[in-house]
Amino acid sequence: MKPRIYYTKPSITDLEVNYASDAAKNGWGDQCYAYIERFENLFKEHLGVKYAVATSSCTGALHMGMSALGIGPGDEVILADTNWIATAAPIVHLGAKPVFVDILPDTWCIDPDKAEAAITPNTKAIVAVHLYGNLCDMDRLLAIGEKYGIPIIEDAAEAIGSIYYGKRAGSMGSFGAFSFHGTKTLTTGEGGIFVTNDSNLYDKVLTLSNHGRSRFQKKQFWADEVGFKYKMSNIQAAIGCAQMVRIGSLIQRKREIFAKYRENLAALPGVAMNPEPEGTINGAWMPTLVFSPDTDISREKLQSAFEEKNIDARVFFWPLSSLDMFVSEQQNVNAWSIPQRAINLPSYDDIKSDEIDRVCNVIYGFFS
Ligand SMILES: *Cc1c(COP(=O)(O)O)cnc(C)c1O
Repeated sequence: MKPRIYYTKPSITDLEVNYASDAAKNGWGDQCYAYIERFENLFKEHLGVKYAVATSSCTGALHMGMSALGIGPGDEVILADTNWIATAAPIVHLGAKPVFVDILPDTWCIDPDKAEAAITPNTKAIVAVHLYGNLCDMDRLLAIGEKYGIPIIEDAAEAIGSIYYGKRAGSMGSFGAFSFHGTKTLTTGEGGIFVTNDSNLYDKVLTLSNHGRSRFQKKQFWADEVGFKYKMSNIQAAIGCAQMVRIGSLIQRKREIFAKYRENLAALPGVAMNPEPEGTINGAWMPTLVFSPDTDISREKLQSAFEEKNIDARVFFWPLSSLDMFVSEQQNVNAWSIPQRAINLPSYDDIKSDEIDRVCNVIYGFFS
């Protein structure tokens, strides 16, 4: 049996190890936030936004951002049915209701018409999740937000490196959230970041992130409100700073791997891959194949074919409304149908060209 090909692995060099060691040795006392501040500054600069708060996860960043927008009991938040549960969990924790709408068949991201049709007087926000690095139709979503006075939140956890007509994913909404989980393009082990250009929202999140203690509060251990504790540690931030030095090449490598898959597979009949429309750049976090129904290629057939070759391929996200804790929304036909005939392909930084060939050969096997 050939060695297992994992679907994702972080790229950790001596630089990350040296930065983390330095933080472990010296990042205490008056240096205890030094890497965190540096990481926030590097990330702001990369993204082109004014404010950032590093967090322990993207989920935490979303939770605090949604709380700062005033989302609470009785409110509704619209998002695509196709998502990782992390986008929906904070909505539920705040006592609000996630409203799941269908995705577009080509980008697999939220359908703006469906989002607009789902707006009610209780709608407090729409979440744009840039799935697998594919970009949401931000022009339409921002116009809808403007028209109804509803903030558009960007969950850009999967979209580092994705650019929408010159603007980076995560920099366009009322706030953006990123994840630095070990499976993401840039990692700190676990971690995330909240970003915004809105100084009010930034102040609110900063206070929430510090257990409700305002930075202007001079009284020690005095909380002005009940907040959260979703901080990134200085040691994690040190790893993040090293990754930020390498961000260009981390993204470049993702795009190279995607280009190789596209070159090898996109010409097969009935196979769609992550789109990259004119004027946009796809950060290519997760190369994904969606087969047309007439190919008769199913998730289950794909999983067993990959398993047989010792390759770790990953299923396309289940519709959130198919999970037991939510009401099923089967009218979301794309969200319910696409995962049944789709797969994510391995794409870690140091994947070898012959490993990509092994992955492609499994797919060719369905067409021979
Ligand atoms: C990974 C991911 C998250 C959650 O990130 P954590 O850092 O694990 O909280 C949220 N949304 C999307 C779209 C993700 O892919």
